[in-house]
Amino acid sequence: MRANHPIPTRILAESSTVLIDPPFTALDACWICGARALRPVHTAIFELSEYRRQDPELAAYTGATVSVVRCAACGFGQPAALPALPGYFDRMYDQRWSAEWMEREFTLGYKDLIFRTVLHGLGRRTGGEVRARTLLDLGAHVGRLMHLAAAAGWTAEGVELNPATSAYAAKATGLPVHRADAARLSAEGRRYDAVTLVDVLEHIPDPVRMLETARGLVRPGGWIAVKVPHGAVQLRKEELRARLRPGYRPTIADNLVHVNHFTPGSLTLALAKAGFAEAAVGVAAPETLPADAPARARLPGNAARLAAYGLGRIVPGGVHTLLGLHLQAYARNPA
Ligand SMILES: [Zn+2]
Repeated sequence: MRANHPIPTRILAESSTVLIDPPFTALDACWICGARALRPVHTAIFELSEYRRQDPELAAYTGATVSVVRCAACGFGQPAALPALPGYFDRMYDQRWSAEWMEREFTLGYKDLIFRTVLHGLGRRTGGEVRARTLLDLGAHVGRLMHLAAAAGWTAEGVELNPATSAYAAKATGLPVHRADAARLSAEGRRYDAVTLVDVLEHIPDPVRMLETARGLVRPGGWIAVKVPHGAVQLRKEELRARLRPGYRPTIADNLVHVNHFTPGSLTLALAKAGFAEAAVGVAAPETLPADAPARARLPGNAARLAAYGLGRIVPGGVHTLLGLHLQAYARNPA
């Protein structure tokens, strides 16, 4: 990690640009449990040179590194420091998606199994009959989960801050997509029977605060569904791949795209700290190969993924093995 102490300028030969090493703010306590025994387990690298024109201050982080540390008390993993650049994450996610790319994201269906599993799990918990029940998808992206939720009988809305994807999602689904952050919707008094955070929470620093905000949007007695990568197993998979493939560098957090590396225990604890009850964490459904992949690759590929998912759910402790690459949690806002 290159931290706050002054470091001499360094010269990037390829661009002949002189850069001051970019500043970081150290994090000295676990975001989930507050413990300070944090052990480095991985090194993340910054490579943001594609932003050189759009955002030179952001691009200046290229070449910096930061440790990912694991909490000895709860098992959660997080960065040892965050970029001090104001709005670092908003600036990194300021991607201008093309219309063709968003259309593909919406139609390829590679996350449909995840979305249908989440909707089924929430439907069961909210009484099975989902007619007239309300759902808010936080981080709705192009709106695919909202679309499937509406088809399954939910009254669905989304929150999406990216202007391109939120406009696409509203048009593709015909449903309300809020371009306001979750805290504002909560302050407006909006409440839903179910709130979803699918492949979102791993990107947001200080995740307990985000979960507290999400709980403010769940009506008393309602449910939240959270799907995140299993941090410890993802790292194990990457290290295994590096052992099998010389020259491969394990990567789980480059550019800090993933800041939260949950385990079943630390995700359960995070939900409890945010005020949720009855948390249950298990193996999440996998992504499948996109609809436009050749059938000869797609069919066996998907069969293998489904088999691993099924096995991970029935093998005792499967969630802690390589069968548990992603975690699916449900928890209730106490009445
Ligand atoms: Zn901890």
